Amino acid sequence: MVRYVYDFADGSRDMADLLGGKGANLAEMTRLGLPVPPGFTVTTEACRAFLTTGAQPDDMAEEVGRHLAALEASAGRTLGQRDDPLLLSVRSGARFSMPGMMETVLDIGLNDDSVLGLANTSGSERFAWDSYRRLIQMFGSTVMGVDPAQFDEAMTLLKAAREAPDDLHLDASDLARLVETYKRLIIDETGAEFPQSSAEQLRLAVLAVFRSWNGERARLYRRREHIPDDLGTAVTVQRMVYGNLGPDSGSGVAFTRDPATGRPGLYGDYLSNAQGEDVVAGIRNTVPLTELGRLDPESYRRLRDHMGTLERHYRDLCDIEFTIERGTLWMLQTRVGKRTAEAAFAIAAELVEEGLITPEEALARVGGEGLARLMFPRFDTTATGEALAHGIPASPGAAVGAAVFDSAEAVRRADAGEQVVLVRQETTPDDLPGMVAAQAVLTSRGGKTSHAAVVARGMGKVCVCGAEELSVNVESRRFTTRDGSVVEEGTVLSVDGSAGAVYPGAVPLVASEAMRFLESGELSGGVVAAVARALEQADSVRTLEVRANADTPEDAARARRFGAQGVGLCRTEHMFLGERRRLVESMILAREDSRRDEALAALLPLQRQDFVGILEAMDGLPVTIRLLDPPLHEFLPDRTELAVRIAAAEARGGQPDAHDVELLDAVNRMHEENPMLGLRGVRLGLVVPGLVAMQVRAIAEAVVERLSASGSPEAEIMVPLVGAVEELRLARAEVERVLAEVATETGVEVHCPIGTMIELPRAALTAGQIAEQAEFFSFGTNDLTQTTWGFSRDDVEAAFFSAYLDKGVFATSPFETIDRDGVGRLVRIAVDEGRAARPGLKIGVCGEHGGDPESVHFFHAAGLDYVSCSPFRVPVARLEAGRAAL
Ligand code: PEP
Ligand code: MG
Repeated sequence: MVRYVYDFADGSRDMADLLGGKGANLAEMTRLGLPVPPGFTVTTEACRAFLTTGAQPDDMAEEVGRHLAALEASAGRTLGQRDDPLLLSVRSGARFSMPGMMETVLDIGLNDDSVLGLANTSGSERFAWDSYRRLIQMFGSTVMGVDPAQFDEAMTLLKAAREAPDDLHLDASDLARLVETYKRLIIDETGAEFPQSSAEQLRLAVLAVFRSWNGERARLYRRREHIPDDLGTAVTVQRMVYGNLGPDSGSGVAFTRDPATGRPGLYGDYLSNAQGEDVVAGIRNTVPLTELGRLDPESYRRLRDHMGTLERHYRDLCDIEFTIERGTLWMLQTRVGKRTAEAAFAIAAELVEEGLITPEEALARVGGEGLARLMFPRFDTTATGEALAHGIPASPGAAVGAAVFDSAEAVRRADAGEQVVLVRQETTPDDLPGMVAAQAVLTSRGGKTSHAAVVARGMGKVCVCGAEELSVNVESRRFTTRDGSVVEEGTVLSVDGSAGAVYPGAVPLVASEAMRFLESGELSGGVVAAVARALEQADSVRTLEVRANADTPEDAARARRFGAQGVGLCRTEHMFLGERRRLVESMILAREDSRRDEALAALLPLQRQDFVGILEAMDGLPVTIRLLDPPLHEFLPDRTELAVRIAAAEARGGQPDAHDVELLDAVNRMHEENPMLGLRGVRLGLVVPGLVAMQVRAIAEAVVERLSASGSPEAEIMVPLVGAVEELRLARAEVERVLAEVATETGVEVHCPIGTMIELPRAALTAGQIAEQAEFFSFGTNDLTQTTWGFSRDDVEAAFFSAYLDKGVFATSPFETIDRDGVGRLVRIAVDEGRAARPGLKIGVCGEHGGDPESVHFFHAAGLDYVSCSPFRVPVARLEAGRAAL
């Protein structure tokens, strides 16, 4: 038989799914023998049944009745008993804490008769009437649906009539009058009376708490916190205790350690002569918990003992709520407390030290997102003013600098020693020097995988993108905010890449110790030692390797310092910027072979030097070099700009620049409406003669150069955007031809595994065929997400993702966290079929998901060999790969 009600004495902390966090932990405290007011919990299962059918399950009422009778028997009085009423609280308590999002009804059991009994037994008429009016107010709004403002208004009118500055100045007869007003209000608003039957009050309050699971606030909160909608809430029913019975009573909240830093020692606040609700609402100033030691040493001593018991039992930081009723301490709630990232690492390490938890448990309690937060410099959050704009938090951290509107200005000012923030509508590879020079990048368009976001993250640079409230005018070097204020070039801005906000002026920064440690290996104690231990533990258990996406020797070297075990993706198109851009332009646009060959010949030595540098930085470790994959729109000059330049020259009566005319003609010829689906990846290599050959030659010659310098180069050649095995077969033949050619020329055999990216659905679905031509796979989950969903990775995030997130189409952007059901399914198919065709096939991922904690767990489960991510995400991926292996 299904059981819907559990006495506190029957439950345990392991039953949070059924009893909610609050119910499970009250049960645990009861079992530990701590002073918990007795009570019982109605399960989440009852809630789910009620929400599905609209009626409480058959046996629930009878079960509640039985548990109530037991409660009454142990209390020696009955619910609502006229001369000495037992009173109850009815509170929500879901599996995951949803603070303040659902309903609570206190003082159940009061009515026109029992209020007099309570006055008598408590010795305070005022207290009794105040409790009664609180019940009617909470019950009226929560259960009967009266607008809470109406009760507040009645209270305000009464206070005005009595010239009372606050409700403490209302006496018992005032409050008795208010009870009458409230009862009338309920009748006027609902046509029904406030129920005098205590049993009816209890029944209706429980159902109202059930219903509050689907309240608007709760639904919104769940969406933001990614809590599933179908869990339902439990309801705890508990004997009321009172902290507002005089100076020897009070309520407080406490932590067993400092939740901000993790330092051991009790922390908390206490408010004498107050109910728990008053502490949270901040109606009067609380005192530090230590003050309780002076006010009530005995209760303080007991509280410390209980908290010690709880921390040893839960083996973690606990927070609690307690009430002292006339010198008697009651524990009302406990849970494993929320904490900052710093505290999470510090506490985990400390508890291992204290022998309370194992290093594996410590690793389970910290996370990659927390580590990422520790790595970036932070703003002092107490010092920020009103934000100028909000956008997508694309690359976390805090940066301050003067607004500049183009790359050249960014470089100029940075060279002169100024800190700058590069502000653009969106960025292109042309902006790279400016991005390198800037402290932060701010764009008004584009999502989390837009150029600005990907590149900034790769550089560990702060970035807020898609700040659509800004209208950026590069020509006049200014932007306008939503409220019309104009920000000119040179104005100092503070960009918070973790929160996605931009502030005027320089918000002070707090430096990150964790970053200094990761860069230098230098242990500075405190949280850094804790981070070091967590990473060590992760490295010792993980089976996933972690590589980095790096396009320069500097990035590769940094990634290696951060613990990367190779380069999983070297995007060669990122090497064709600045001066070289013109060479690429002429190579792509050339109509005659001779012009193309000239451009390729000029590029060859430059490419070779790039590869030598990266292979040297990663000596002895694999470096996966991807053949050119430029969506053409990122490389060719802008069509409109060219046309305008030509038209302007003609309008002035002059001759347009011949190169411009030629370029426009070529650009028109090559123009694509959907460049992301156009001539890129392997397609480009197959149609532009000599391109693959030049790149492979550069790689092979770089390997030879490194070998002759006694290095251990481990280059791997990767073909992008393959959709059919035939494409790979053709590309592979060309690669092998050139490798053999270089071997003949140099007398040195060059062994480079040849593999492919899997970044099109067709590639995943035909992975068995493709594996016959590929020595490794690397999932390009950026393109695989783009092409599986049909979402343009450059546009959709800014265009409509916020609406999709609000409507719950998905809980996080699929460009950020791998979509397990769709894209993930393709990954699994490709892994299975690829390895079936070629046992032991090495498989990695190099899309942005490689550095996303949740996705790393998926890739571990899918059996990948490695993840590759931005250098700055390497420590995050190491940590999460370790956690995934636990
Ligand atoms: C990908 O598509 O996931 C990938 C790594 O390639 P790029 O981002 O360069 O298209
Ligand atoms: Mg790609």
